[in-house]
Parts: sequence; structure tokens; C-alpha cells
Amino acid sequence: MKSTKYDVIVVGAGPAGAVTARGLAVAGVKTLLVEKEKLPRYKTCAGGINVRAANLLDFDIAPVVERVISGARFSYKSRYRLTRRYPQPTTYMVTRQRFDSLLAGRAQEAGAELVDGRKITRVEPDDGMVRVTAGGDVFTASVIVGADGVNGTVATSLGLKDGFYCNLGLEAEVYADEKTLARWEDLMGLDLGTIPGGYGWVFPKGDHLSVGIGGPMRFAKKLEIWLKGLLKCYNLDESHIRLMRGARLPVRKKGSPIAAGRGLLVGDAAGLTDAVSGEGIYYAIKSGQIAVPAVVGFLGGERDGLAAYQRAVDAEMMPELDVTRALAKIFTWFTTGTPPLFFKLTAENERVWRAFCRIIRGEKSYLSVKEELGPFRFIFDLLAR
Ligand SMILES: Cc1cc2nc3c(=O)[nH]c(=O)nc-3n(C[C@H](O)[C@H](O)[C@H](O)COP(=O)(O)OP(=O)(O)OC[C@H]3O[C@@H](n4cnc5c(N)ncnc54)[C@H](O)[C@@H]3O)c2cc1C
Repeated sequence: MKSTKYDVIVVGAGPAGAVTARGLAVAGVKTLLVEKEKLPRYKTCAGGINVRAANLLDFDIAPVVERVISGARFSYKSRYRLTRRYPQPTTYMVTRQRFDSLLAGRAQEAGAELVDGRKITRVEPDDGMVRVTAGGDVFTASVIVGADGVNGTVATSLGLKDGFYCNLGLEAEVYADEKTLARWEDLMGLDLGTIPGGYGWVFPKGDHLSVGIGGPMRFAKKLEIWLKGLLKCYNLDESHIRLMRGARLPVRKKGSPIAAGRGLLVGDAAGLTDAVSGEGIYYAIKSGQIAVPAVVGFLGGERDGLAAYQRAVDAEMMPELDVTRALAKIFTWFTTGTPPLFFKLTAENERVWRAFCRIIRGEKSYLSVKEELGPFRFIFDLLAR
């Protein structure tokens, strides 16, 4: 049995873990990044990295970008309707195998130690430290960071589970010929009206299309039928599905604790995803970046350090995520009750399309949508509860 001592152990080498580990290593903290899978590993995800998420990183992701998107083909109830374009890129398309490996590599380059293919099974306090068991190995550290995703073990060990509710996404990798792939060029597909409170997508990659649908958990049983309807809408062959998997999308409950004792949670483990779009990579990166100074402060003797992380997330991230929770409720009402009106107000509305593009480019935030309501802002506060 091996036993090694670190300042910080980060569990999970997704975007949240890799960014946290890199930030800590850059700050001179002795950091171990532990991942249960061998890298590169598959992760159920559409692989859309918004411009605003890419801009958070201090390195270029171009080596793993397979498409640059600047427009969308909108359909309503799986019937094709209209194409919209934006003068600048909005989203970079990647596969998570390559994107996450790039991020983990950057963490290693900065000095973090990566151990992959090792699943953390137990986290427990040990004489003023944290003891982590992974197979036959035992590691100790002053701080543990749970970046182990929606099914995280660290949250449970820290007594922080049940801090979020979940939506569900089903994603299929669909192989397509050169002609079909070329037809998607710089476009993504977005389908509204099929699933109440959710949407379907076609995200093109280098050699395949990611086709999926996501929304409230109660529609779990219908997702596969709807996904196949979407394939038909875009003339894609069901027999070309190479892989189809579902995964949960966690949405943090207002005020739920994400730090306790010597540990904290980042990314999906903390439930930090957009309740409308399911986007989580931006929030995984951002929460990792917020965690770094809090952990460094804690290691330097600021006993309040990890609580400071939760306060910073509440102040810097939650106001925007609260708006997405309110928008998710509005989205559900509209798509349940009057879907054609909803389509008119969103996809067919030039102003809404431009605002959407500016939000995912990071030029505008969801908060500005709330601000534009002036005295009616309280509606958002009520809905975000
Ligand atoms: C169908 C679907 C489509 C999506 N599409 C998009 C999209 O296009 N754009 C976007 O921004 N977001 C998307 N998301 C959300 C996005 O995938 C997540 O928000 C993001 O991956 C969160 O990153 P993370 O680092 O917090 O967690 P993860 O990426 O889940 O990484 C957690 C890591 O921890 C590891 N791990 C887990 N348990 C242990 C353990 N016990 N020991 C060691 N390691 C462990 C896992 O193997 C994994 O590598 C999608 C989600 C779904 C379900």
C-alpha cells in the first residue's frame, strides 16, 4: 500500500477538477488530481464550449476544437423551420475526450500530479487532515476538492449531498457522411417545443454529429422516442447511432452548502449548471477558479477560507444561475402551454436571438435580462426560489 501526503487532493479530472488543480499548482500548492477513468475518457456531453467559457481559460483550446459555430438551424417540434446566423463565433465544438485531456495536461504542466484509473472510494477525517482511499492506495491532504461530478462521492463524505435537483439529457453520437457533415458547416441545430422545459440539439463534430435532447426528469421515458424524431427531422439515419447515453444535469438548490470542514465542491458536484440550457462547463471552470484563492487562503491560515469559497460562489455565480432557474420555469410554462407562441418569441425573434448569442459569447449576462424588466424584476426573484 502506497501512502502519500499532499496539500490538496482534487477528485475528478473533468473541467472543474483540472482547472482547480492547475490553479493550485500555479500558486505553488502540492496538488494531487485523481481520476477514476483512464484518460482520455468518454463523458456524456454535447461538447459545446461557449466563447465565454473558452475565454475564462489562460490557454488556447484551438488544438481540440473540431468546429466553430456561428449560427443555428431552429426546428419546432422536430420540424425544420429557419436558420439564423451571427457575425461572430458563439460556440466551439469539441469531444470531451480530447478537451478534458487537454485541461488535465495543462494541470500537469503547471505541476499538479495526475493519477488516473484510480477510483476514490472513501474520504474521512484523519488527525486534522483528510484521508482518501483509492483501491489499495491511501493519500492524505489538508484539503479535499470534490470535482467528481453529479454522482460524486466527496459530497456524500462531506455531508453535502442533496444540494441539487436534476434534469436529464440523452446524447447520441451519430455517424454521418461527408456531405451531411458539410451541410452543418458552422451551424448547430436547436429544437424547441418537443420537450416541455427542455430542448433538442444537433452539435456537429469533426467526424460525427452529437444529437440529443434534455429537460425535466419526468420525461425520462420519452427522451429516446423524441431523439429519434429529431434524427428524422434532420434526415439522419437511426442505424448510424454509435453510442447513446443518458446523464443527469444537476441544478443547485438556493443556498445549499458546498463547503464543509476541510472540503469543498466545484462544478457538477456542487450542482452548478444552467437550469435552461444545461450548460455546465463554463460554471465548472469558473467555480474551480473561485476555489483556488479560497483554498490557498485556508492553507495559509485563514480558518474561514473554505466558507469564503461558498460566499464567493453565492456572490459571483448564483445571481446569474438564479435567473436561469427562473427562466427555466417560464420556459416550461411556455413550452407546455403555448409552444408556437414561444417559438415566435424566441427563435423567430431577431432581438432574442442576438441577446442569446451575446450571452453565450460573454458580452451580456442573464442578469441583464432581469435588469431589462425594470420594476418587474421581482418576478424573477419569486420564480428563482
Ligand atoms: C447530455 C449532456 C449534454 C451536455 N452538453 C453540454 C454542453 O454542450 N456544454 C456544456 O457546457 N455543458 C454540457 N453538459 C454539462 C457538462 O457535461 C457538465 O456540466 C460538466 O462536465 C461538468 O464538469 P465537472 O468537471 O464538474 O464534472 P465531470 O465532467 O462530470 O467530471 C467529473 C470527473 O470525476 C470523475 N470521478 C467521478 N467519481 C470519481 C471518484 N470516485 N474517484 C475519482 N474520480 C471520479 C469522473 O470520471 C469524471 O471524469 C452536458 C451534460 C449532459 C448530461
